[in-house]
Amino acid sequence: MIDPVIIGTVALDSIETPFGKIQDALGGSACYASIAASFFSKPGILSIIGEDFPNKHIIFLNEKGVDTKGIILGDKTFKWSGFYEFDMNEAKTLRTELNSLESYKVEVPDDYKNAKYVFLANIDPELQLDVISNVNKPELVVMDTMNFWIDQKKEHLLKAIDKADILVLNDAEARQLFDTPNLVKAAKACLKMHTKAVIIKKGEHGALLFTDNQHFNAPGYPLEHIKDPTGCGDSFGGAITGYLAKTQDLSEANLRKAVVYGSVIASYNAEDFSIEKLKRIKQEDIENRYKEFKAIRQF
Ligand code: AMP
Repeated sequence: MIDPVIIGTVALDSIETPFGKIQDALGGSACYASIAASFFSKPGILSIIGEDFPNKHIIFLNEKGVDTKGIILGDKTFKWSGFYEFDMNEAKTLRTELNSLESYKVEVPDDYKNAKYVFLANIDPELQLDVISNVNKPELVVMDTMNFWIDQKKEHLLKAIDKADILVLNDAEARQLFDTPNLVKAAKACLKMHTKAVIIKKGEHGALLFTDNQHFNAPGYPLEHIKDPTGCGDSFGGAITGYLAKTQDLSEANLRKAVVYGSVIASYNAEDFSIEKLKRIKQEDIENRYKEFKAIRQF
């Protein structure tokens, strides 16, 4: 059974950080999110790639247990290029080439339609809405976005948020989307919609979880070696959804655990370029860092 279903970009990324650079490496929100979810469950991707997309990446995703039959073939793969300066919390976009994403129509394979968990990773909100209406009866819809879509398609984005159960976004996006400098006010504005929980990512400073009457603050992991934070947000959201799909428990306590597992996977992701670190980590690495996260907060 495919769970969660993840829609997002499958991309070729070109990135420069103070610690090196890569050209046309495997990236994209669905890619990071599904690899992260695969540590907990059996995700399937909905996306589009082009003729230029190396088949070895599909083989790798399949080896990781990610179902790729929901990835259709277009002419040219989505490409993103960006850079980071010494403050690695903020990605600066150089170029976004939507390519085949511009004409992409979502096609949901039959065995994805009964998925109970859905992650709408960062992609055009009209496509996120299409997925919501094409999966039969999801128990939980988690959704992410970014400034690009807030700028370009705010109306559609708000419609999609209104249909999602959990919204995941970073602090700058929360301020921009809800038009307030205050993150508590932004979260409250979102909870007034149908959203049951809002998770605000604060890069290396951790993440905040807001539900109707509770608030949780997950620490950032004190990483000494960061090479490339690209995909941290996507792997955070993918891991949260994958963990919730595995545990089938939407209690406040389990949401908190999910946020910590999300932070564990995202922190590993930043340690190398593209998906290189996620390729190497094992289940025991995840559990060890989860324990460290617990220890950080004890006093
Ligand atoms: P993040 O988790 O925010 O660092 O996401 C980085 C990934 O998002 C990169 O691998 C990009 O390929 C992908 N990306 C960049 N811009 C967009 C966009 N406008 N829509 C969807 N995905 C994007």
